[in-house]
Amino acid sequence: MPQLYELTACELSQKLDRREVSSLEITEAVLVRIAQVEPKVGAFLTLTPDVARNQAIEADKRIAAGKRIGPLDGIPISIKDNMCTKGIRTTCASKILDNFIPPYDGTAVIRMRDAGTVTLGKTNMDEFAMGSSTENSAYGPSKNPWDVNRVPGGSSGGSASTVAAGEAIAALGSDTGGSIRQPAAFCGIVGLKPTYGLVSRYGLVAYASSLDQIGPLTHTVEDSALLLNVIAGHDPMDSTSLKVEKKDYTQACRDEVKGLRIGVPKEFFGEGVDKNVSSLVHKAINQLCDKGAIAEECSLPSIDYCLAAYYIIAPAEASSNLARFDGVKYGHRTKELAGHIGLMEKTRDEGFGAEVKQRIMIGTYALSAGYYDAYYKRAQQVRTLIRRDFDTAFEKYDVLITPTSPTVAFKVGEKTDDPLAMKLSDICTLPVNMAGIPGMSLPCGFHDGMPVGLQILAKPFGEETIFRAAYAYEQSNPWRYARAVL
Ligand code: GLN
Repeated sequence: MPQLYELTACELSQKLDRREVSSLEITEAVLVRIAQVEPKVGAFLTLTPDVARNQAIEADKRIAAGKRIGPLDGIPISIKDNMCTKGIRTTCASKILDNFIPPYDGTAVIRMRDAGTVTLGKTNMDEFAMGSSTENSAYGPSKNPWDVNRVPGGSSGGSASTVAAGEAIAALGSDTGGSIRQPAAFCGIVGLKPTYGLVSRYGLVAYASSLDQIGPLTHTVEDSALLLNVIAGHDPMDSTSLKVEKKDYTQACRDEVKGLRIGVPKEFFGEGVDKNVSSLVHKAINQLCDKGAIAEECSLPSIDYCLAAYYIIAPAEASSNLARFDGVKYGHRTKELAGHIGLMEKTRDEGFGAEVKQRIMIGTYALSAGYYDAYYKRAQQVRTLIRRDFDTAFEKYDVLITPTSPTVAFKVGEKTDDPLAMKLSDICTLPVNMAGIPGMSLPCGFHDGMPVGLQILAKPFGEETIFRAAYAYEQSNPWRYARAVL
């Protein structure tokens, strides 16, 4: 018999509806699990057991009164520590926000709470979401539940490990260049980056505003749909949030892919991609074809310039976004008496870690007069080409399928001295943010005892097509039942 903390949101939801278990029992089971494995995994920056217990008790009252809000009412979740939570410390894994307690909640946080979820705490991440392993956290790295000598991926590594370790049933993460999908792949779970503009960014501490998007990390495709149902939708507090009709994404979870046209972009299977990873992805594509889908190789020629363009655009936006951390309004302030400019300089020097400083400098340089045209403008032109490549591909194909990451999770410390190798671990996920399209990573097998992720992409607002393809694949495979042993 699986333990309560090993079940999916859908399974627990049915148990709650049938009154076989209470939300408080589920919450206590997860809290016990956290106490057991958190010393090994280190996924949380802040735990909120009292908040969780109170919310669970409230959920149980609603259930007893026959007023259950919906399928997520009473389900324990974790939240990445770059989403503002009123009264709960929100650090972005940075010393500069070590003492920051937001006076308001982000929209996704509000929507999850209004859906009745139980908040267990805030999860570890790379500082300001800059990184691919959580090793850039000012509070130390999280570990991969499948092998604690390996990284969980990043930057939403804490969120992914909570789900994979049974320390949460589901989690919210954010994805600027792969930060939901790559950790999902490394931890053997499902991660979705929605279309840019589908989920409000209000209350998400901005890294690169034109790329950032919040999304779910879950054990199954259907759980992912349940969370997206809650967080998607227009929000007047975010001017980039789009007015699209509300959908029930669980309706798209059908085991039926007859006639689905799959494009397999060859650029994602080239040099640097582990053969074991690409062969598992090809195997998955063949399985979908056995169920009636039609696959064909295709090409996205501008992808080769994506990494370089992303590492201009993202730092450029970051350099502007992170200017607000000045020691005056909130967060850390230097103890030294250094005058007005000195106060800012000292505060920022003390508060930001090396990776963040490096990106602020690169971004400021790329935006400065004289260099703007050579770097920022060209990077934006590349971005347009990438978007057009995807537009062209989606005229012919319903989905594109690629590996999520070129390799399985690497060892802690393995890539910290090699920034290029670290950045290459996002090579398959970055283009998706550059184009603003939706992308999901889901488990497609194991190599070397570690989970491998498969990435499914669709055109803007094509989430339903992704859910359909992903669900069909998931149903024919055992991966959704696999749990890390800790
Ligand atoms: N690893 C990429 C970066 O460091 C993407 C991070 C993210 O998606 N937040 O920018």
